[in-house]
Amino acid sequence: MVNQVYQAHTMEEALNWLDQHKEKAKLIAGGTDLIIKLREGGMMPAVLIDISNMQDTKHIEERDQRIILGSTATFTDIQQSQIFQKRLIAIAQAAQSVGSPQIRHRATVGGNICNASPAADLLPPLLAMNTKALLQSKEGSRLLPLEELLTGKETTCLLPEEMLKSIEFSSLGKGEGLGFSKLSVRNALAIARISMAVYLQLDDKGNCRDIRIASGALGLKAQREKNVESLVKDQPLDKKMIETASKALETNTLERLAGRKTLPFKRYAVQGVFQEALEQAMELCVRRDI
Ligand SMILES: Cc1cc2nc3c(=O)[nH]c(=O)nc-3n(C[C@H](O)[C@H](O)[C@H](O)COP(=O)(O)OP(=O)(O)OC[C@H]3O[C@@H](n4cnc5c(N)ncnc54)[C@H](O)[C@@H]3O)c2cc1C
Repeated sequence: MVNQVYQAHTMEEALNWLDQHKEKAKLIAGGTDLIIKLREGGMMPAVLIDISNMQDTKHIEERDQRIILGSTATFTDIQQSQIFQKRLIAIAQAAQSVGSPQIRHRATVGGNICNASPAADLLPPLLAMNTKALLQSKEGSRLLPLEELLTGKETTCLLPEEMLKSIEFSSLGKGEGLGFSKLSVRNALAIARISMAVYLQLDDKGNCRDIRIASGALGLKAQREKNVESLVKDQPLDKKMIETASKALETNTLERLAGRKTLPFKRYAVQGVFQEALEQAMELCVRRDI
């Protein structure tokens, strides 16, 4: 039973309480995932540390060509940030696709990442952007690739006394683009059935100089599709190559979802979702006006 609730106004306060109570404590940010788990009895921490009013982790900023997002920034904050209106609009679109306005107002970047659902909408674009996560404890900090933070279905390598402070990735320049696409059952309040993000860098001839593909809801966790990336990198990005990459994604889906009832539609849907995300990334790569 929860018998103590702390309200942190600074990260220092939250870290002190976390250090004091360790595995007995759970952080609560927007509560949009955690409250459901508490109600279902899936977990029962003795202590809750409310970090939703923690002001020093709400920032979204661009510094030295790096984008930095504090962990308690909400989906609404992302939608409203000028940083995500141009070449990085796919991240605002991923935020926009989450739940309802009420959910987006509460739900935080840190909660979406640390809940580590395979269908979390921010994870594919952040993985495609090679995002790094800054973890903080009372004793110090460590910066690690987001990919390493996510260890499995709803699991991370966060230690009991650690919290996610912020995430960061490089901003995009000319010749680069990020695309996002999501297939869900309804427009509002729908958890992704498949989501896909593609980071792309094209050279002047339209060849793929670099590509990073990440998927959501296609396995136990959101993940990079590295075998597909290696097929496309340094190749002309023509119709034949796009078909080859789409088929490779179908093969990955067949392997990961073998025996699941969603497999018959996901094996085909994954190809369309990928192509939509790729198309958006390609369009942004050739834009000169942003
Ligand atoms: C109706 C509804 C619709 C939804 N639709 C979508 C959707 O379309 N797409 C989608 O991706 N999600 C959706 N969600 C899920 C949810 O809104 C998101 O995952 C949200 O981002 C979680 O953030 P939060 O701040 O509410 O996290 P919380 O519920 O407060 O916390 C979630 C977990 O993260 C941990 N945590 C939170 N912050 C930190 C931190 N800084 N450091 C370490 N650990 C931390 C908590 O301890 C907890 O274990 C939906 C939820 C609901 C209820």
